[in-house]
Parts: sequence; structure tokens; C-alpha cells
Amino acid sequence: MRTGVVVVGAGPAGASAAIRLAREGFEVALVDRARFPRAKPCGEFLSPGATPILEELGVRDAVESAGALRLERVRIDAHGASVELDFPDDLGAPAWGYSLSRFALDAILVDAARGAGARVFEGTRVEEVRLGPSGAAIRARGPDGEPHSFEAALVIGGGGRACPVARAIGTRRRLSRPRFDLLAHWSDEAADRSRSPAERTCALVVRGDSYVALAPVEGGRWNVNCVVPRAAFRATRDPAELYRRSVAAVTPPGTMPEEEVSASDVTSFRTRSATADRALLVGDAALFLDPFTGQGIWLALRSAALAADVAARALASGRCDRAALSGYDAARRTEFAARLRVSRALQTILYRPAAARWLVRALGRNRRLARTLAAATGDLSPSESVWSTGFGARLLAAGMPVGSRVTP
Ligand SMILES: Cc1cc2nc3c(=O)[nH]c(=O)nc-3n(C[C@H](O)[C@H](O)[C@H](O)COP(=O)(O)OP(=O)(O)OC[C@H]3O[C@@H](n4cnc5c(N)ncnc54)[C@H](O)[C@@H]3O)c2cc1C
Repeated sequence: MRTGVVVVGAGPAGASAAIRLAREGFEVALVDRARFPRAKPCGEFLSPGATPILEELGVRDAVESAGALRLERVRIDAHGASVELDFPDDLGAPAWGYSLSRFALDAILVDAARGAGARVFEGTRVEEVRLGPSGAAIRARGPDGEPHSFEAALVIGGGGRACPVARAIGTRRRLSRPRFDLLAHWSDEAADRSRSPAERTCALVVRGDSYVALAPVEGGRWNVNCVVPRAAFRATRDPAELYRRSVAAVTPPGTMPEEEVSASDVTSFRTRSATADRALLVGDAALFLDPFTGQGIWLALRSAALAADVAARALASGRCDRAALSGYDAARRTEFAARLRVSRALQTILYRPAAARWLVRALGRNRRLARTLAAATGDLSPSESVWSTGFGARLLAAGMPVGSRVTP
């Protein structure tokens, strides 16, 4: 098949890039090895900054109809110190983020891509991507093992952490210690009400070098996932037992979830570049952050918006070489570099008990500080604010023992 653009991967990044380009009138093929709806390991909380993007994509009503919950705050309990961060309501976006299973969300986005005019190839695994001066050549295998080949002026890699387009482009850099996530859904009855967070709240409980994240999702269920060092995961013969022990602080004694525990590698990484001749990477394919700030879906949707913009201009001009696509790398630096720094700084602090307790107490004492961090991690404001000297000064002042404190 000859087409303008092939998008590999129909998660939030790939499907939303396909929606945008198909709406602009480009011929788009959207290819995914899965058939939708399908489950995907994820905490399933969308930061508040994702809501306006869902609106732009025309899927917000469908998300609401699917039963998405609105979560207004994050409760952090780090090594015994706790604080609640409310998302601010005066930044032009709703002060809450949706919580919706990926089973529902991703199928809504794929349907919207189809509705916008993209040709969707489900159950079709991309096996090889070749990037040459005259175009991109993609070899895939369909649901019955039949071969498919696509030739396109441009390929967009939205294949997540194992994206075949990212493999064709080159190397990635690891950004954190190797970590694994174990995840399962619990029914409302099984979840221990007395230990679960209040309504409209998602929670993060950090202990030692692990954490548990829990959030209610549609259908009266809870998403409970825990992140542990890879060494702990490798050392166990029984991941379900490791999961049970890791989430014991927030689940009722002696119970197990209603479904099998899934395990995924959540070591953060980024690729050296998100562009190559005739190729762009979106979402996790280019940058994967530790899930604890719940920003991955926003990053996927936002990077797809930036990529679609650059891709539309390149396709219209007939030039899809790396120089023509370089605006995308620049836009990513502007939007994501500070977010990446905040995420890495939080990771460093949260696993150090004394530093984590100090930070959490400082956030509890100074509401302005808490608001800045909630706005940045909720993708409601640029993360640069967290690096400002004002934030640093307030943090230092708020973290001082009572008595020696000055109000900034
Ligand atoms: C355990 C865990 C918890 C998380 N919690 C949160 C959270 O609460 N909030 C949040 O915002 N983010 C969270 N994230 C991150 C979030 O899941 C990702 O950032 C997001 O899914 C990225 O979207 P994507 O479209 O780039 O990739 P994906 O959603 O991974 O989609 C990639 C698609 O590509 C397809 N694909 C892969 N290889 C091929 C191939 N060879 N051929 C064809 N198709 C292919 C896959 O089938 C898949 O559908 C979490 C991640 C993990 C692992």
C-alpha cells in the first residue's frame, strides 16, 4: 500500500497523531499489533492537562460516556509523612484529571482515528522499518500471518517502549535505575475502604525503594500498581506474591485482586533524537518517564500534537528529511525538558526517606509551594516554575524546623 503517512502503534500517541493528520486531509494508515479494545498496563490516571487535548480531538464526550471519573487531588504518603496536592482551578483547564481504563480510552481514540478517515490495521505487527532517501518501507504481518507492506513519505513511531521505528532510528539512554511495575485491578468490595484514599483522589504510597499507586477507575474498580527495583522482581519466583506483599499496606489482609497480575519494565529512558530522515517518534517511543507523576498519557497526546504539526508542514512541502522535521526536536526540548528534570528530581528525593519526609512536610506547610508542584505535575503549567529561585527559596523556608522559619 502506498500512503502519505504510516503511524505505527495506536496507543494515545499514535492514534491522536493519526486523528490530527487524517483531519488535515493526509492519507494515513494506522497499524497496531493489537485488536481494540485491549488492556494496557497503566495507572490509568490522565493528568488534568490532558482534558483540553481530549476536547480538541473531539473525544471528551465519549470519554465521559465511558464512565471516566474525575480525580481532583493526589495524596502522597512518603515514608510516613503525607500531604494532599489539589490541582489548581484557575489555570484555564479543569482542576481534575480523568481516570479511565486503557481498555476504554484507547478504543475511543482508535475509533476517532477511523472516523477522521485513517485506515486502521488492527492485529497487524510491524516487523521491519526501512528509512531511505525516497521514503519509508514498512513490512508487517496481519492477523492470519499474511504479509503487508507499506510505502510512505513519512512514518510516525508510536509503538510505545518497544517501538520498531525507534529501533530503526537508533540508540536510547536510560534515565533511572531499572524498575519493574506489577499491576492489577481490584473490585470495590475487595478494596479496603478504610485504607483507600478519599473520593476523587489518587494516592501514592512510598516505602523504602518501592511505591504503590492507586486510583479508582470506572465500573467500581481500583487500579493498584506497585513499582519495585528490578532486582527484587528478578529475585522472586512468584510475582503475584511479591505484588501481594508490596500492596499489603493499602489492600485488605488475605485478599487478592480479581485478575492476573501484569508485570512491565518501567525503567525511564529517552532516545537520542525523536527525528530521522522520514521518521518521527511520539509518546513512549521517544521518552518514557517513571509513571509516578501520571504524565505519560499527557506526554503521548502532547508530543503527537507537536509531531502532527511538523509532519503536516513537511508533507505539504514534499520534504520529509531530518532537516525538514527538526522543528519537532526543538519543540520537544521547549515543552518537555523541564518536565523531565522535575520527574528525575522527584524520583531522587522520594526514595530517600529523610529528604522525602522533608519535602512532603514542606509542601504541607506552604500551600503556594504545593500548588506550584501540583500545577506542574498536573501539566497545567510549564515545569520551569519548579526550577525558579522563588520555588527554591519557599521550599527551603518551608522545610526549616518551626521556630527558625521565615515566611517567604
Ligand atoms: C505500569 C505503568 C503505569 C502507568 N501509569 C500511568 C498513569 O497513571 N498515567 C499516565 O499518564 N501514564 C501512565 N503510564 C505511562 C503511559 O502508559 C504511557 O506513557 C502511554 O501509554 C504512552 O502512550 P503511547 O501511545 O506512546 O504508547 P502505548 O500506549 O504503549 O501504545 C503503543 C502501541 O503500539 C503497539 N505496538 C507496539 N509494537 C508494535 C509493532 N511492532 N507493530 C504494531 N504495533 C505495535 C502496541 O500494541 C500499543 O497499542 C504508565 C505506564 C506503565 C507501564
